[in-house]
Amino acid sequence: MARVAVVTGGTRGIGAAISRELQRQGRTVVATYAGNAAAAEAFKSETGIHVVQFDASDFAACEKAVAGIAAEIGPVEVLVNNAGITRDGTLARMSRDMWDAVIDTNLGSCYNMCKLTFEGMRAAKFGRIVNIGSINGQAGQYGQVNYAAAKSGMHGFTKALAQEGARFGITVNAIAPGYVDTDMVRAVPADVLQKIIARIPMGRLGHAEDIARGVAFLTADEADFVTGSTLSINGGQHMY
Ligand code: NDP
Repeated sequence: MARVAVVTGGTRGIGAAISRELQRQGRTVVATYAGNAAAAEAFKSETGIHVVQFDASDFAACEKAVAGIAAEIGPVEVLVNNAGITRDGTLARMSRDMWDAVIDTNLGSCYNMCKLTFEGMRAAKFGRIVNIGSINGQAGQYGQVNYAAAKSGMHGFTKALAQEGARFGITVNAIAPGYVDTDMVRAVPADVLQKIIARIPMGRLGHAEDIARGVAFLTADEADFVTGSTLSINGGQHMY
């Protein structure tokens, strides 16, 4: 039977490309989203992929959703923690709310979803977890202490959980995308974006599919010797 793969934030942007790629790989995919129901419904009717709405930063909401997915579709054996937001500003201008929102959505959701699916993966003696970090978690970025801390935290989380999962057949890896052409990056002012592209050796922004291919590699059944790694997919912008 096809393994069930959950992609948080899987209905738009990078997550949507990941959901499609995992579907192509033969997984039964469940794409989650926070509140953009129009985008989720359009994605569902186009792809036939299940969509589920819940706030991945809210542990109780995740608990209910994961139980529902297990009951209606099957236990989660592949998990991609992709949901993420930015709330940029220099430290001087960053409120505690901006800090909390970014830490809770990017890093907290990673804890929530892993905590709620890891036990089942241990029992099944199989699991594939991929956490979507960022180049800015590796290199830092002006105006993003919250985001850089959250993404860097996801990279540390990955290495620690990989050690806990290894003897149960569970791999835990991260991908650190560079700048990818999605709504998140379209929000960056055009002049700033031009300067960023000028620093990318490949001379272009990434496509969501560039990241999705990395996820498919890391979540393949055959990829059982790859764990605790961070795959940089950034057009050569930062070699880490
Ligand atoms: P988008 O803003 O295009 O999409 C974000 C997705 O996450 C949406 O599906 C959104 O749901 C969902 N989401 C946001 N908050 C929550 C939440 N609290 N609970 C559940 N789902 C949530 O982002 P991208 O595709 O650009 O980014 C995807 C991931 O990749 C993020 O983690 C991001 O930090 C990371 N990344 C992106 C880069 C880029 O250049 N784009 C570079 C490096 C990393 P909804 O549709 O309902 O709003």
